[in-house]
Amino acid sequence: MREAVHGALTQEARGVGLEVRGLAKRFGALQAVQGLSFSVQPGETVGLLGPNGAGKTTTLLCVAGLVRPDSGDVRWNGAVLGPERGRQVTLISETPEVYPMLTVWEHLVFVARACRLPVGWQDRGEELLERLALADQRDALGESLSKGMRQKTLIAASVLAGTPALLLDEPMIGLDPRGQRELRGMLDELRRAGGALLISTHLLESAEAICDRVVILKSGRLVAQGNIAELRQRRGAEQSLEDAFLDLTQ
Ligand code: ATP
Repeated sequence: MREAVHGALTQEARGVGLEVRGLAKRFGALQAVQGLSFSVQPGETVGLLGPNGAGKTTTLLCVAGLVRPDSGDVRWNGAVLGPERGRQVTLISETPEVYPMLTVWEHLVFVARACRLPVGWQDRGEELLERLALADQRDALGESLSKGMRQKTLIAASVLAGTPALLLDEPMIGLDPRGQRELRGMLDELRRAGGALLISTHLLESAEAICDRVVILKSGRLVAQGNIAELRQRRGAEQSLEDAFLDLTQ
């Protein structure tokens, strides 16, 4: 898939990437996210970790422009993004939502029209379906797709649109081991093609396998960020990522 996505990711993808600055979001009396800043560079996969209720989904929704933060901003290559940021950022939620009455291929047609892609996009669309092992589902309706197929449809649509930053909320949950392995491979290829990937997960083994760096939240605040080797060494002696995570979030 690398070749297919390479051309799809824009020149922009070589800049400073995605920056989250001073993000805060309150729900009534509950401060769900507070003063959160981190970045995801092109060609980097960052894991967003934290216990239940730490603010991961709220963060992803704010970064995707689907929830308005109380303060803070989100930038792509230094420019503050407005509410309409679908060309820079795509969020694939824990329950990936596709149009039930559109086929897989029609999702790509929809994106091509919405983004006014130049004539000839169909070849790239077909190639993406092949690379993502979705060609057999080309004419299947959205409502009939499994979670993995829905994820792949959205990944194909996002790559076709040339969206450089991809956010995934708990992407591994509900996938069988083969689906998880396929998804890991796809994410690795997207990253190597210059994508900026932000992935929320409770699965620390997956985070360790996929992510270059992790950002750890607790009660809406950042408690640690860095590469996994650094986090494991933070007490001097080597800890497992699980022990480091539990230490930081207890
Ligand atoms: P989990 O790992 O359990 O999915 P999370 O880290 O994704 O949790 P969020 O879903 O971001 O956490 O929730 C952070 C806090 O904000 C939680 O206390 C949650 O109950 C609260 N919250 C989230 N969305 C809303 C909302 N729409 N209205 C009120 N409170 C909300």
